[in-house]
Amino acid sequence: MYDVVVVGQGLSGLLSAIWAGEQGKKVALVSKGTGKLLQSTGFMDFYGKKPATEMTKEAVDKFKQLMTKLNLPYLGDFGSKVSVVTGSGYLKETILYPETVVPVPDSGRVLVVGFTEIADFQPAFVKGNLERERPELVVDTLTVSLEQKSLRTMTQLDAARLLDKKENRAKVLKQIKAQMQKRNLGQPELYIFPASLGIENWRTVLQEFSVELGAPVTEAPGMPPNAPAVRLFESLRKAAIRMGTRFYSDTEVIGSHVEENLVRSLKIQTSNHTTEIIGRTYIIAAGGVLGGGHVMTAQGLKDTVLGLETDAYGQYSVCPENVLLVGASRGTKELHCGITGGVSAIQSSYESVLSLTK
Ligand SMILES: Cc1cc2nc3c(=O)[nH]c(=O)nc-3n(C[C@H](O)[C@H](O)[C@H](O)COP(=O)(O)OP(=O)(O)OC[C@H]3O[C@@H](n4cnc5c(N)ncnc54)[C@H](O)[C@@H]3O)c2cc1C
Repeated sequence: MYDVVVVGQGLSGLLSAIWAGEQGKKVALVSKGTGKLLQSTGFMDFYGKKPATEMTKEAVDKFKQLMTKLNLPYLGDFGSKVSVVTGSGYLKETILYPETVVPVPDSGRVLVVGFTEIADFQPAFVKGNLERERPELVVDTLTVSLEQKSLRTMTQLDAARLLDKKENRAKVLKQIKAQMQKRNLGQPELYIFPASLGIENWRTVLQEFSVELGAPVTEAPGMPPNAPAVRLFESLRKAAIRMGTRFYSDTEVIGSHVEENLVRSLKIQTSNHTTEIIGRTYIIAAGGVLGGGHVMTAQGLKDTVLGLETDAYGQYSVCPENVLLVGASRGTKELHCGITGGVSAIQSSYESVLSLTK
């Protein structure tokens, strides 16, 4: 028997598993897929319908402490939004962002650098939109080659993995410097790259690029997969494993056995068998409609996890006493269009795990 069974390995599920593990709980995590983290920017946005509270601050601080411990520090503060540039050149307001990201200045000169192999990040397009967003900014562009052949279109993640290697970084830096000199481009205050500044060696890539180029560099996340999201997912998953979480991957929860308003077990199904898993407490982090935990019907949202009745907003009509809901599993009453956003996912995971100690 587990102390805690978590359903879902998105941001909410992984944080819940790690924080429950920190309390010495024996944790299992069951998930049928990887969640939305891998499709996200890796930034933590705030979309909540309810205003931020002291609890939001506590949860955000706890997340930042965790990420520092995992050697993937997050910057930003719960009280203030910052403008960061996306892979389309539009600005996005966010709360927390990784160290590979630098907020865009209001004025001055920036240089957008693309890779010929990556179709999803077009420097001219970024420039057009960024100049509309920040008319005081002078935006230059250039494109260099990763000098790699691929049978399929390369993604930002492919570029990130290539830039983990010193020889590839050297080729890219050489081309940037040569083009800047040839075109007599002025020194920018910020270099904007696709979200591809390394995976394993992101710190070295960041340091080497900013030192060699003589100015800060930033990633601009766009079409997934984005390196910051992959780094975050991988480091949270590894942390949960290190804390002792038992992962049941590619495993779907297809119902529950409830007695006296307590969930006694979950029915779980893998590709070749169906069985049960038993816990004292169940944390449902199944991501709502977008994550697969709810389906939309003519009568409103329906739960796909415990198989219990919900209201039209996806909230259990009678929530079993040993069930904690996090992220979009809390239903659409609390969420803007059912989209959790990183900050609400962090807060609800933190609140749920705090209640384990009571
Ligand atoms: C495409 C996209 C991009 C986004 N980008 C951002 C962003 O950049 N920044 C931001 O702040 N927010 C972003 N969001 C909002 C996002 O909803 C939250 O930030 C957060 O990642 C949600 O995490 P979660 O863990 O609550 O849900 P999810 O990530 O959806 O995870 C749900 C998990 O539950 C599992 N699951 C569902 N049903 C079952 C079942 N029956 N049995 C077993 N497992 C089950 C799924 O497989 C998955 O592992 C984005 C949303 C989308 C759709």
